[in-house]
Amino acid sequence: MMYDAIIVGARVAGSPLAMLLARKGYRVLLLDQATFPSDTISTHHIHQPGVARLRRWGLLEKVRASNCPPTTEMRFDVGPFALVGTPPPFEGQAEAYAPRRRVLDAILVDAAVEAGAELRAGFAVTELTHSGGAVTGVRGRDRNGSNVTERARIVVGADGARSAVADSVQAPSYLDRGMLTCNYYSYWSGVRLDGVELYAREGHLIVADKTNDGLVMVTVVWPKAEFGRVRSNIEFEFMRVLDEHAPALAERLRAGRREERFAGSGFLPNLFRKPYGAGWALVGDAGYVKDPVTAQGITNSFSHAEMLAEALDEGFSGRREMTEALASYELKRNEEVLSMFEHTCQLASLAPPPPEMGRLFEALRDDEAEIGRFLGTVTGVVPVQQFFSPENIGRIINAAALMPAA
Ligand SMILES: Cc1cc2nc3c(=O)[nH]c(=O)nc-3n(C[C@H](O)[C@H](O)[C@H](O)COP(=O)(O)OP(=O)(O)OC[C@H]3O[C@@H](n4cnc5c(N)ncnc54)[C@H](O)[C@@H]3O)c2cc1C
Repeated sequence: MMYDAIIVGARVAGSPLAMLLARKGYRVLLLDQATFPSDTISTHHIHQPGVARLRRWGLLEKVRASNCPPTTEMRFDVGPFALVGTPPPFEGQAEAYAPRRRVLDAILVDAAVEAGAELRAGFAVTELTHSGGAVTGVRGRDRNGSNVTERARIVVGADGARSAVADSVQAPSYLDRGMLTCNYYSYWSGVRLDGVELYAREGHLIVADKTNDGLVMVTVVWPKAEFGRVRSNIEFEFMRVLDEHAPALAERLRAGRREERFAGSGFLPNLFRKPYGAGWALVGDAGYVKDPVTAQGITNSFSHAEMLAEALDEGFSGRREMTEALASYELKRNEEVLSMFEHTCQLASLAPPPPEMGRLFEALRDDEAEIGRFLGTVTGVVPVQQFFSPENIGRIINAAALMPAA
């Protein structure tokens, strides 16, 4: 049996791609060594552009029904004060969500199966098969331990940042900025949170967010070089950062109850990979991975799954030559994320803000509309290059200087 596409990895990149291709009538095999529902190392914030895609695909109601609360308010604490506001909507979508990955990924896997994709969970791909220089399929072990070979017109690596598919085809990487941060997170009950809280500090970022079942998830970020030290005494180091930089949040957490162990990662690369070649393509973290400080990964995975589904449809249907369609997918992907990638790497340096940024924050303080637009750069709705252009920063600072003193 020859599939149109074999997709390796069934989480936030692979399952939407499988769903979209199956909805177009293609024969899709979706493989993952994991079984579902299951967690993975990742926090959960989905910005408005990602939520808008869930809505477009008909899946937002399922996320809502999972007892996952929406958030609209964001509190960006810069130290001496906080910028509190509401980021602008995207395609009419004003609310963000942060569902547990075991909830979200299961909804996506089910949607792929419902659309007609064949799922084999517990299936570990061990190698790719080739013919005449092109990838022709995969070999792997199914959940019973049997060795299996499957063939397809294209094999897609949606297998995450450590992509074995990318390694196997030696996909060239570029704009590799190395690893900048590490983080730990956990979940508390009995903690009140009105919206997302972000605390930007030199050497740290702290994020608090609401997730399923009344739990609050809190993440602390350190420079990558501190991972070994932090890992040896996680709770102590975690609370030490909160006590120093967000004492009121620390107090709220102590009044609540930590419900789970800490999880986190010191493997957070920042790089792009060429996402296609003869018989193969990459999507999600396999093709473009960045530090989670800006929480773009899930939203990007959704968007790039849509782009790749469109390109593969063009290629399969003969509307366009496949290589040309996939080259255009790479261009569109990069165009969408390049300035946010630079911004993410800048934030992930955890460096103190340059002086003009301090002046900008001061100027934003009492301007609700501009705070909203600033928060829109965090959610990816307002283009960062536009908002942080010298002209726009100058305009905001000058306008604030003309305001009568309160
Ligand atoms: C600590 C942390 C916090 C984060 N927080 C956020 C956040 O708040 N918001 C956000 O948008 N993004 C966040 N991200 C980023 C986000 O998690 C990723 O961008 C996203 O998970 C990428 O999805 P993916 O489907 O490409 O890969 P993954 O989620 O990594 O899934 C890859 C899948 O491939 C499977 N696989 C791998 N190899 C094989 C194989 N050989 N055979 C079969 N299956 C295989 C794996 O089992 C896995 O299920 C965070 C990341 C980290 C590490």
